[in-house]
Amino acid sequence: MNIQQRQQQFQQYLVRSGLKATRQRDLIARAFFATSSHISAEALYRRVNGRDRRIGLVTVYRTLKLLKDAGLAHERQFGEGRALFEHATKRHHDHMICTHCGKITEFENCEIEELQEQVARRFGFTLQDHKLELYGLCQECRKGAGRGPARTRANGVR
Ligand SMILES: [Zn+2]
Ligand SMILES: [Zn+2]
Repeated sequence: MNIQQRQQQFQQYLVRSGLKATRQRDLIARAFFATSSHISAEALYRRVNGRDRRIGLVTVYRTLKLLKDAGLAHERQFGEGRALFEHATKRHHDHMICTHCGKITEFENCEIEELQEQVARRFGFTLQDHKLELYGLCQECRKGAGRGPARTRANGVR
């Protein structure tokens, strides 16, 4: 889906919900679709505010919520209440988060996916979705720290 199509999907969602497609919402959505990675509401706010000073942080929060409801954005919580948004149209992937510099690496591993299915089956559980987050030190931060292997913490399966 290109930006134009996502923009269209968002407009349609707004119409269906009886909301107006304002110029500000349009600008915020466009800026969000133009991001390639994970972005916080504050960072998105700084981007759009550079283009239109009248756009406030609250409007950005509300528009991100609408994008979420429209199925176009995913909200991720990466430790310490750090909420980041990413495109919901991307294919499934999991995340590795550096606890030192905050760098986020996306990965997908078929074996892990399959193991999760197996574990769920063993408990008679039907898996619908999951989030896997690995916390530790990225390559650069490991070099900087010069310490042993990175400490990792799997953040459960949901
Ligand atoms: Zn790092
Ligand atoms: Zn991601």
